[in-house]
Amino acid sequence: MGEQLVGGHVSAAGGVMKAFENAHAIGANFFQIFTQSPRAWKTNAIADEEIANFKQGLANQIHGLKGLVTHASYLINLASTDQDLFNRSQAALIDNLESASKLGARGVVLHVGSHKGSGLDSSLGGILSSLTRALESVDDSCQIFLENTAGQGGSIGVSFEELARIIDGAGSSERIGVCLDTQHLFASGVSYSTIEEADNVIKRFSEILGIGRLGCIHLNDSKAPLGSMKDRHENLAEGLIGADALSNLVSHPALLGVPIILETPGDGKGPRRSDVELARELVAKGQSRRGG
Ligand SMILES: [Zn+2]
Ligand SMILES: [Zn+2]
Repeated sequence: MGEQLVGGHVSAAGGVMKAFENAHAIGANFFQIFTQSPRAWKTNAIADEEIANFKQGLANQIHGLKGLVTHASYLINLASTDQDLFNRSQAALIDNLESASKLGARGVVLHVGSHKGSGLDSSLGGILSSLTRALESVDDSCQIFLENTAGQGGSIGVSFEELARIIDGAGSSERIGVCLDTQHLFASGVSYSTIEEADNVIKRFSEILGIGRLGCIHLNDSKAPLGSMKDRHENLAEGLIGADALSNLVSHPALLGVPIILETPGDGKGPRRSDVELARELVAKGQSRRGG
């Protein structure tokens, strides 16, 4: 049985080493960072010495931190029909995967992009070639975790089937995994308000994608209603999903050991210590309701 890994997205402003302190401050034993500004194309070259220190820190599990994922730039759109934007996206994906790999992250979480209503078929070729090229360019075990989306504006990855088409198309590489965001799942129209419904979500994930593909969970409550297709995160137990439903999902036995990462607003500065504690409680509560 894997150890429960719970943490949050933390700031790496002022240098990646700062992220260890920020993760420690919220009581995390797993964390997520950006390796560049998520809303700018300019990449942030991390100095070799800083990379070496960071990798050493991860290997030594300083502050009890057991692992890291990074989150790719939000500007990346591998489905763009604008050639310039597509080229920039392809280059940024390689950059982001390279940074993740150098830092020793398990993988980089990626929003594939948006077809803006034209459907996945027309953009699938570009997405697949970009993924393949990135994996070839950065040749180690670092993974790309495709994130499920809320679906707004034709964002790709709104269903497990869509994610499976991409993974199958990319030759089912072992280096492509999935990041399951609970808010995006809810906004895409999937309910898990009962244990039965939650079990059915994981059953479908297992059948369509394979549970082994699940690299991390983004645990967020929702400001937007079920099926609204809006990507709006809320603090745990304060949104429209609610504590019980989140607990139903994250306590599923197949998810034990899969890192849980909060991307909740807190007081405006991201997840707080109390939020990480609550996440651990939600897992424990669900497990006891399940009789485990
Ligand atoms: Zn997310
Ligand atoms: Zn989101």
